[in-house]
Amino acid sequence: IVSADPIKDVQQEVKEWASQKKIEIDELRKQEKFRREFLSNISHEFKTPLFAIQGYIEAIQDDNFEDTDMAAQFLEKASKNVDRLSYLIKDLDEISKLESGEIPINYSKFKVNDLIKEVFESLELKANQHSIRLIFKQKYDEPFLVTADREKIRQVLVNLIDNSFKYGKEGGTTSVSVFDLHDQVLIEVTDDGIGIEEHNLPRLFERFFRTDQSRSRQIGGSGLGLAIVKHIIEAHQQTINVRSTAGLGSTFGFTLQKVKQIQFPAIPVLKS
Ligand code: ADP
Repeated sequence: IVSADPIKDVQQEVKEWASQKKIEIDELRKQEKFRREFLSNISHEFKTPLFAIQGYIEAIQDDNFEDTDMAAQFLEKASKNVDRLSYLIKDLDEISKLESGEIPINYSKFKVNDLIKEVFESLELKANQHSIRLIFKQKYDEPFLVTADREKIRQVLVNLIDNSFKYGKEGGTTSVSVFDLHDQVLIEVTDDGIGIEEHNLPRLFERFFRTDQSRSRQIGGSGLGLAIVKHIIEAHQQTINVRSTAGLGSTFGFTLQKVKQIQFPAIPVLKS
């Protein structure tokens, strides 16, 4: 092809090249900002429990163990903060492995109803401790066969149900429902707990994001659970969403791919 104006073409090419480079630089800047924020969040999240542990140890040392009841209480609190640090390390390890692609998604076919029942069994004791009733709302006769990484979806369910205990109300209910979306199934975890204010909803799945309500409730958590959940669901090319009303409760819903059932053509009945 012979161009009518070769100089104009070269100018256009340079322009496109420059705008492509600008996009790349902007992306690198964004990543750098994200990395800096991530590191500062990590150090902040570690500092809080570490300072608390240090405080309790110093208090016990100052008291010279004269008040043994008090010392026992402080030790208990220090130990809770050690737990918090271990959860944090475990979740950080998990999310960095997931994000680096070190843990691949191992697809298998399984009945989603069976997995929900298994997760319920494993969380029964915890639900009792929180005085929360766990119910499985099942409208369909047939169990849904899905294709996904069973272990990772188990973790998604455990994280969501565990949150419903942490942010639920005593004597409340957590229900898990399954809906047929034709090619997919939608699984919803609903609680009647503290709920989430609307302005917090867009940030909920960010790493380390915790609402002021949950921070002030002093509930142990890493702020990474939902980031892990989102990562797992998106790695399956599926979606997750949340709806909530502050003071009334929340619903987290995610989709899974259904195994396509082979439809055999109807055999015509020959009439003799
Ligand atoms: P963590 O529970 O460890 O703080 P998550 O990533 O699981 O971290 O959740 C992030 C935040 O989202 C929580 O701190 C809490 O503020 C809010 N949240 C999560 N689940 C619920 C829920 N079921 N009800 C109310 N708030 C919730």
